Amino acid sequence: MEKEFANKVALVTGAGSGIGRAVAIAFAREGAKVVVADVNAEGGAMTVRMIMQGGGDATFLKTDVSNEAEVQAMVEKTIELYGRIDCACNNAGVKSSEVFTADCKEEDWDRVMNIDLKGQWLCMKHEIPVMVKQHGGAIVNISSIAAFKGTPKMVEYSAAKAASINLTRTAAVEYARQGIRVNAVCPGMIITPMSDGGDNKAFDFEKLAGEIVPMGRRAKPEEVAEAVLWLCSDAASYVTGAALPVDGGILAE
Ligand code: NAD
Repeated sequence: MEKEFANKVALVTGAGSGIGRAVAIAFAREGAKVVVADVNAEGGAMTVRMIMQGGGDATFLKTDVSNEAEVQAMVEKTIELYGRIDCACNNAGVKSSEVFTADCKEEDWDRVMNIDLKGQWLCMKHEIPVMVKQHGGAIVNISSIAAFKGTPKMVEYSAAKAASINLTRTAAVEYARQGIRVNAVCPGMIITPMSDGGDNKAFDFEKLAGEIVPMGRRAKPEEVAEAVLWLCSDAASYVTGAALPVDGGILAE
């Protein structure tokens, strides 16, 4: 049987680590040719190696999603290499500076907004014209459950992630008649370097998950990747403008 994404091309940003890497590997497993975009060349190269070892086809493109010239070059190079973009997962992101609202520095506000929000808009700005020309495509923006809740010490991050959902809805409505579906995935507590790293290395995230997640645990990045692939697949042919929580039930409480 032919694989779900055979003869398709998937572009994944922030694919050098965590959720993005899991999405890139899942697309490759299902037969897509994958462009792995990231600012981190080492992580990106590792993802490509992992895909090649599994018999897949992938290329790394060093890209800072907050820089329009680099995003434009990423899309142009993808077309040069593979000829089209069927699926795009705009996943690259950084976490908040982890301080209360009044203590957030302007430079941290700008950094998070530029990567987590403007980056997704810039990616869509350059991906959508390619998909319009092809008469189809599917985009998934990675938001967060932080979009829906007042989460202490996440002011710039939760503002960017909430805006990501309306960015998603707007594009979904604008391009629905051109065969382009645009959805968001809102992960909860996922085991990645972003949630285990930084100043919080000593923090026991698994214990917290036991207390606040109805399912009582964090998720593997692969569990988020499966939701992204479903939204990009023909099985989700009537789904657009949605913000799908993948959170073990946190938002349901
Ligand atoms: P991660 O830190 O493991 O991976 C993020 C990747 O994005 C890294 O490879 C990093 O180099 C890349 N990146 C950062 N800035 C970039 C830029 N300017 N241009 C291109 N690439 C850049 O984090 P993750 O947990 O896998 O996060 C992936 C996405 O999921 C993010 O948007 C994050 O906000 C979101 N998310 C994560 C969680 C979680 O619990 N881990 C929860 C909700 C949402």
